[in-house]
Amino acid sequence: MKTDKAKVFECKRCGFCCQGESTVSLSPEEQEQIASYLGLKLEEFLEKYTVKRGRRVEMKTVAGHCIFYQEKESLCLIHPVKPFHCKQWPLHPSILKDRESFEIIRRTCPGFSPEASWEDVKKLLPSSPKPSNSGQK
Ligand code: SF4
Ligand code: SF4
Repeated sequence: MKTDKAKVFECKRCGFCCQGESTVSLSPEEQEQIASYLGLKLEEFLEKYTVKRGRRVEMKTVAGHCIFYQEKESLCLIHPVKPFHCKQWPLHPSILKDRESFEIIRRTCPGFSPEASWEDVKKLLPSSPKPSNSGQK
């Protein structure tokens, strides 16, 4: 039997949200965690896998998707340590701040149940999101 959350949203692992020419920003802690997971020194990781946009450090993109997205099997290569914003997507108050934003995201994310309303989704949103390593995409 599905949980309340699963009735509203269940990631289909389609990889659509890993596509695009930019990615999420990485906190210093996330940079350290991903570098360590990959067995790299921080400097090596930053050089090989990230790009600076102003003060933000983002993951690079390759062929129109995040450098850590493995297209063949639709996998995130750093799944256990992926950034907070990836883990939380799309259930984030700033993304789903109003009904219109929800409808825009719903059109691109097949994880939302067709029956789910914005009111249903609002109940799932964390009240005060903090970066952490819990949660799943
Ligand atoms: S969050 Fe949505 S768009 Fe991203 S992989 Fe899951 S179902 Fe696809
Ligand atoms: S880190 Fe993983 S989940 Fe996040 S955008 Fe890259 S491939 Fe997708």
